[in-house]
Amino acid sequence: MTETMEAVVGAGEFAVRAHRLTVGGAAVPFRQSPHGGARMKPLYLVIHYTAGLSATSAMNWFLDPRARASAHLVIGRQGAATQLMGFDRACWHAGQSAWKGLDGLNGHSIGIEIVNAGKLAKGPGGRWQTWTGEAIPDSEVVVARHRNEAVEAGWHAYTREQIAAVVEIGSALHTTYGFRDVLGHEDIAPRRKVDPGPAFPLRSVAARILGRA
Ligand SMILES: [Zn+2]
Repeated sequence: MTETMEAVVGAGEFAVRAHRLTVGGAAVPFRQSPHGGARMKPLYLVIHYTAGLSATSAMNWFLDPRARASAHLVIGRQGAATQLMGFDRACWHAGQSAWKGLDGLNGHSIGIEIVNAGKLAKGPGGRWQTWTGEAIPDSEVVVARHRNEAVEAGWHAYTREQIAAVVEIGSALHTTYGFRDVLGHEDIAPRRKVDPGPAFPLRSVAARILGRA
């Protein structure tokens, strides 16, 4: 990550215009996902990880008709955002889910997918690896216990640029839509999902987003 990109992210230049995310006045890259499209009033922001290492492979999957899943935004490892659905349209990121009397959060929330390998396993020689067997250096691993689980595990670290991007973009979205809260997929589908997991500072990110409107 270059100083220049960090300056752009830190400058808080994100805004929402006609349900599209802009940075410095220009729309971020947009690729229309086929997964969703019904009109929707966003009440919540929901955070996910992709369980992968590449924004390109995540987006190719979310645009694939077989996926039956997508998100409004994908945030790459360097913090770059791509939008896949207008923010006034439902997108299939939550699946079976519930929160405070609402059933099916796809109809009530904007979803952000952050490129992150998620929960890791110990491979040969005790080295951390992803569920597909790709090695992750110790410097990118957070060992922590998920609040919905009993024992510690390894989790792929999020980058500083990703956290900054989620705060800045979430704040711009909150200014436009007035979220009730910022949640993790693990909050709204706790028996099925563990993302974004303990490596993501969800409560502090939520406080920063909701405190800025
Ligand atoms: Zn998820």
